[in-house]
Amino acid sequence: MSDRILIVAAARGQTDTLPRLLAAAEHLSGSGDIHTFGEWPPEDAAPLIADLATGCRAVLAADDDFGRDAVARASALAGAPFLGGVIAFPTPVAAVRPQFADSVHATVELPYGAFVTVRPTAFEPFVGFIDPKPQLHPQSPRSGSRQRALVTAPGGGPDLASAPVVLGAGRGAATLARMEIVRRIAARLGAAIGATRPLVDEALAPPEALLGQSGKVVAPRLYIALGISGALQHLAGVKDAAVIAAINTDADAPMIEAADLVWIADLDTALPELEAALADGGRR
Ligand SMILES: Cc1cc2nc3c(=O)[nH]c(=O)nc-3n(C[C@H](O)[C@H](O)[C@H](O)COP(=O)(O)OP(=O)(O)OC[C@H]3O[C@@H](n4cnc5c(N)ncnc54)[C@H](O)[C@@H]3O)c2cc1C
Repeated sequence: MSDRILIVAAARGQTDTLPRLLAAAEHLSGSGDIHTFGEWPPEDAAPLIADLATGCRAVLAADDDFGRDAVARASALAGAPFLGGVIAFPTPVAAVRPQFADSVHATVELPYGAFVTVRPTAFEPFVGFIDPKPQLHPQSPRSGSRQRALVTAPGGGPDLASAPVVLGAGRGAATLARMEIVRRIAARLGAAIGATRPLVDEALAPPEALLGQSGKVVAPRLYIALGISGALQHLAGVKDAAVIAAINTDADAPMIEAADLVWIADLDTALPELEAALADGGRR
């Protein structure tokens, strides 16, 4: 049996995510082969990942859009088990996965040859020389018109998974006018924009912006929840933020309970005020 661990990353997340994947691999005490997949669509990367995984003890990828899609497909092609959203490896043959919107952490066996996505923020970045060097696969052989842009916040901006500040837009922000101000505030703060399920359902945010149990899990330095009630399924994706701020008309909303900083206000007045205060350099 080999000790080789295949680490798979999308190029975009490399700077922040790769050191965290390496830290996760360290827990498995194996030697890592790193492959990064530039701008590959997951469906193109999956067969190559399945091939590269032959004889590997485990395949590790970030639990992001690329990892979840490409690695789940690759596991199916390889006929190997898939474990998603792992947050710890207590031993080299065990993995911890959150379940039921993070209310239960289950320790499960890590089978030989498993394909695994890990939450990058659950692992402190590896510090040291990266050995061996990542092997780059810059472009899919089938690239071209099919190639999918890697998704960032709507309208560009920092990557949601690693942005230090994230603005979360909920149903309370669900008008074009409010979202326009949210985008301007995000640009001013250098923040990424995430969203709740209703915003995505109403097409005011792309599916990739969904935060929570069925979407992304983030751990920014500051999370600002705008018109979000704080359902368990949403909180599962943002509760690890260092500081949570919330603006809501309802003082009894669970999001207000979960927040460190609270502003009870209507977004129609709060958003323009916030924008003006930022434009003022915070002098108000
Ligand atoms: C299996 C399952 C998985 C799910 N996964 C996810 C997930 O991953 N992510 C997710 O987000 N949801 C998920 N959901 C949906 C989740 O349960 C909630 O329905 C959703 O998070 C609610 O979104 P919201 O807070 O934007 O909307 P609402 O619950 O409708 O809350 C809107 C909030 O905005 C406030 N508000 C309204 N108007 C204003 C205003 N003008 N100014 C200020 N505040 C205002 C209200 O007081 C309220 O608190 C899932 C549900 C299920 C069943």
